[in-house]
Amino acid sequence: MVPMAPQPGMVPMAPQTVMVVDNTYYGVSPVACVCPNCRASVVTNAVASPGLLSWLACAGLCLVGLWPCAPIPFCMAGCQDVRHYCPACGVCIRTREALG
Ligand SMILES: [Zn+2]
Repeated sequence: MVPMAPQPGMVPMAPQTVMVVDNTYYGVSPVACVCPNCRASVVTNAVASPGLLSWLACAGLCLVGLWPCAPIPFCMAGCQDVRHYCPACGVCIRTREALG
C-alpha cells in the first residue's frame, strides 16, 4: 500500500459568498432601471454636480499654473458626482461619485 500523500489541488473550496449584485452601471448618462421606491421601469434623470474630484482637479490645475483651466472640471460630467433621479417619483436612486 502506498501511503496517502496530501493531494495538492484538494483544497476545500472557500464558501461562496452570495450577494445581490446590481449589474446596472450608473455612469454619467441616464440609465434604464427599476426604481426601488415606486417599482416603475424608468430611465433615470442624471444630474451632475461638482463633487470632491471637481475641487481636487480644480486645485491641481491651479497648483501647476493652469488656473485658466480650473473651471473645466466643473464642466465635465466625468469629474462630477452624478445623481440618478427617478422621473416618476423623484427619488434619488443612485449617486455616482467621481471618486469612489
Ligand atoms: Zn420612482
